[in-house]
Amino acid sequence: MTPNSQLFQDLSSVLYDEAQLAAAVKALGERITQDYQGKSPLMICILKGASLFFTDLIRQIDLPLTIEFMAISSYGASTVSSGEVRMIKDLDRPIKGRDVLIVEDIVDSGMTLSYLTRLLHSRGANSLKLVSLLDKPSRRTVPLTVDYSCFQIPDAFVVGYGLDYDEKYRNLPVVGILDPKVYS
Ligand code: 5GP
Repeated sequence: MTPNSQLFQDLSSVLYDEAQLAAAVKALGERITQDYQGKSPLMICILKGASLFFTDLIRQIDLPLTIEFMAISSYGASTVSSGEVRMIKDLDRPIKGRDVLIVEDIVDSGMTLSYLTRLLHSRGANSLKLVSLLDKPSRRTVPLTVDYSCFQIPDAFVVGYGLDYDEKYRNLPVVGILDPKVYS
């Protein structure tokens, strides 16, 4: 994909290019590898937004990990959260006794991860940590700390590298701010 692509044209700016994303994901993978020495963590990908980040991240973690997928309701054709968290696809196996890492694309209000944290704790995980590519701490409406994140970003609606607007832009290889003219 070239910068002349329509997908790129719809961005008002690029926040992180492919090289910056790859470097940050590699560094995060190395940190998790160190922190989980001797363990076999269960990495849970939250579909669909975290899918690109997830597949890159697990290849940078040198541990005998296992993976699972979960799907949670998204914003749909909107840039503002409905405030309602709904599960669309649950895990395939029990997580009792596992060291779990939940992998998200972005944390905004914190409601999605707060819901998932309560749910997975109740299923008896041995430990539970939160991983997110992006974090918007200024937008939090519930208290929630992300254990591992690559970038903290200001309050803007971003797309690319898995993140969508109305299901599009996930295949952009960069993360950028969507030009408000696209949705206003
Ligand atoms: P939260 O529950 O923390 O408010 O929202 C988390 C979810 O909202 C993310 O997984 C993502 O689907 C969506 N989200 C929040 N901010 C953005 C954004 O700037 N861009 C996109 N594409 N999705 C976002």
